[in-house]
Amino acid sequence: MYDAVVIGSGIAGAAAARVLAEEQGKQVLVLERRPHIGGNCYDREDEYGILIHQYGPHIFHTNDEEVYAWLSRFTDWYEFGHEVVARVGERLIPVPFNLNTLKMVYGEEKGERLAGKLANTFGAGARVPILKLREQTDPEIQAIADFVYENIFLKYTMKQWGQKPEEIDPAVTGRVPVVISYDNRYFGDKYQGMPKDGYTPMFEKILAHPGIEVRTGTDAREILELRKEEGKVYLEGREFDGAVIYTGAADELFGCRYGRLPYRSLRFDFEHYRIPDYQGHSVVNYTVSEEFTRITEFKHLTGQKAEGTTIVKEYPFAYTGAEGEIPYYAILNEENLALYRRYAALAEKFPDFYLLGRLAEYKYYNIDAMAARALGLARSLA
Ligand code: FAD
Ligand code: UDP
Repeated sequence: MYDAVVIGSGIAGAAAARVLAEEQGKQVLVLERRPHIGGNCYDREDEYGILIHQYGPHIFHTNDEEVYAWLSRFTDWYEFGHEVVARVGERLIPVPFNLNTLKMVYGEEKGERLAGKLANTFGAGARVPILKLREQTDPEIQAIADFVYENIFLKYTMKQWGQKPEEIDPAVTGRVPVVISYDNRYFGDKYQGMPKDGYTPMFEKILAHPGIEVRTGTDAREILELRKEEGKVYLEGREFDGAVIYTGAADELFGCRYGRLPYRSLRFDFEHYRIPDYQGHSVVNYTVSEEFTRITEFKHLTGQKAEGTTIVKEYPFAYTGAEGEIPYYAILNEENLALYRRYAALAEKFPDFYLLGRLAEYKYYNIDAMAARALGLARSLA
């Protein structure tokens, strides 16, 4: 009855399912255990009519023309250059730290001279990871690096990861480099913004194809069984020999038999205010104070006009696997990757079975890279 099963309806599962159905004429069953589609990109109106992102703020950004064109079939865009500020004491300073931030910190005259020094050292427009900046021997550049490290990275990273910046994978802090330009945008990408009507309508359109059946509220583990001894997959008790794409957590697939894969999780505290504007910015990072990492005010992200406003505060914590907790961020280090590889090796024993996604691949993917990977994997199954 089905040619393929896709587990999860986030961007990985949704994009893969569409390709299998549309380009390969397959009948695809999508299983989603949440009561809604869209994975962590899911958005909805809250009880006050404000469009919120239930699993944290998601800003689409990409340089990938193919992904942008593909997604643009399913949505128009509200495009804007996403900007973030950090609250440092009484001040709000632009993040990533850039030459505007430099001048706010050092004043116009000294800032100008230091900007010249940074441009001479790294090249105008360069994007320098904080850990690289800290390796510089010039005392003035070292002082800048110390300022950025202390005021932007140390406390925020301790909150987010429970570890210092130098203790986590350098690629993570490298996502928010020091930028040698006057560009205040958070991302450097050509395209950035939001699906015009929100993410959920975009996902509805991606999944709206006669070859796709979506079952929300269905945990794959209830109807899909991996029989290791046989190397076979069973769907609702019957042997299934079509392709299976799994986008959930790799350890859960095998009952966490080697132990749980470590993740960071988040608690999202939403608050509504009967005022037009709470913070004047879409995202304020709390880099030296508070227990939460950042506050997002949705109307500034989505461009929605409304009398009231809804914000969300993000409180990171170590994922334990307890009921209701969601694993958000893989913690990338050698030990965890070794554990991941043991689970991936189990999955490889099943022919036509594929791990795809931020959870299943234990990787840090943005939406665009995830979509690109999903399109690529699904097309390889033709
Ligand atoms: P998910 O979106 O997690 O989807 C996986 C789906 O599988 C879920 O719906 C889950 O319920 C389902 N599932 C799991 N197990 C089962 C099972 N056993 N049975 C049935 N269903 C199952 N990226 C950006 O590009 N820009 C951003 O601004 C951005 N902000 C982010 C903010 C936060 C707080 C986080 C955590 C991530 C952010 N990302 C952002 C990354 C983005 O969320 C991911 O790239 C994207 O969601 C990955 O999609 P996915 O399909 O792999 O995973
Ligand atoms: N980071 C930080 N201070 C900031 C912003 C980011 O220390 O103001 C660090 C932190 O370790 C974070 C990482 O840089 O986890 C990557 O930030 P990004 O905004 O890309 O994280 P995401 O949006 O994926 O949560």
